[in-house]
Amino acid sequence: MTSWVASANGHRDFPLDNLPIGIVSPTGGAPRPAIAIGEQVLDLQAALEAGLFTGSVRDAVETTGTALNTLLAHGTEVRRALRRQVTAILAAGSPAERLSHRLLHSAADCTLHLPCEIGDYTDFYAGIHHATHVGRLMRPDNPLMPNYKYLPVAYHGRASTVRPSGAALRRPNGQRKPASDPTPSFGPSRNLDFELEFGIWIGTGNALGEPIPIAQAADHIAGYCLLNDWSARDIQGWEYQPLGPFLAKNLLTTISPWIVMPEALAPFRVPAMSREASDPPLFSYLADAADQVSGGLDVALEASILTPTMRAQSLHPHRIARSNARFLFWTPAQMVAHHTSNGCALQPGDLLGSGTISGPGKGEEGSLLEMTEGGREPISLPNGETRRFLEDGDTVILSARASNGRVSIGFGLCEGTVLPAPPGA
Ligand code: CA
Repeated sequence: MTSWVASANGHRDFPLDNLPIGIVSPTGGAPRPAIAIGEQVLDLQAALEAGLFTGSVRDAVETTGTALNTLLAHGTEVRRALRRQVTAILAAGSPAERLSHRLLHSAADCTLHLPCEIGDYTDFYAGIHHATHVGRLMRPDNPLMPNYKYLPVAYHGRASTVRPSGAALRRPNGQRKPASDPTPSFGPSRNLDFELEFGIWIGTGNALGEPIPIAQAADHIAGYCLLNDWSARDIQGWEYQPLGPFLAKNLLTTISPWIVMPEALAPFRVPAMSREASDPPLFSYLADAADQVSGGLDVALEASILTPTMRAQSLHPHRIARSNARFLFWTPAQMVAHHTSNGCALQPGDLLGSGTISGPGKGEEGSLLEMTEGGREPISLPNGETRRFLEDGDTVILSARASNGRVSIGFGLCEGTVLPAPPGA
């Protein structure tokens, strides 16, 4: 199907097949809900005022302000109806084309905001190859912890430090204690890293005390984004025991600001990662036949780096990792079911991180920690530079693509640049 928005046809990220939703401000305008289409965005408020929405979609857009929480809370049926109505508005031959000057803004002229007011952010650890690579650095013979294949491990992150793509990362100060030093010192992190992750947006929540059954868990997911869980490895190594990640992780979390809806990813559903015969059986609260058949996602992921020297040499960003969402040992539905299995309440607009998604091989590691064997073996860049961890001025760019030969969609960018640490440490 083609669109009357010419730039959408064959667009790398945002053809008519995608239609991700977000919050944008056109130049000089207030934040408002919008849907990306090619090099443009469809202003949902303007479409509402033009009388283009009907029924539950009209009601949902009418009550949407500067965040999508309430819209996502309407759940799967309203989201699908929105998608159908927007598809009709933007499809070639639609009478809405004559209103294009009112309905569309150039994406280049828009500021993209966080799509939701994020009440809570939880980061999982479901990338099994990442867990294996990192575990091997500490426990060569027994990399995975005993709980890994019983439950999707996670920690509660910090919602206040999630930012949309483009936000700068100031190198954090913190306590660092290399193994060679008898005592810790306080100062700029020397081992700053990124993590290539998937983000999962919660739509309809659940009441406190009422777990979400695994068979219904997918209905509580409103969409997906890219997520970079910036990590200060030296701070992490000293602080994390016994309560887990803290200041090494809450310095900044960068996300791609468009929410890619589950309906856009439907053609890219794959079986959940297969379990080995020696793996423990799934607890029934994590087992659902449909989820096992199609709860996984085939989405290609990449991480690239652009250093200040590369920028000065007019070089393009260099890809340092290729991976795929297939390498998640736990499905998003299993994460939701497990998260609520004790009665914990999820709310509309909550954000879940998948955990770093690495592939099994070289060139598929989703963090520098893995690529450099804990910082011992620097990676080489095409211009002769090397990196153990991130230097000031380095930009990390995450991207994602789902493609099956017929449909190809992307997620937009998730990038950030490292700034020097604040003075005074
Ligand atoms: Ca992480």
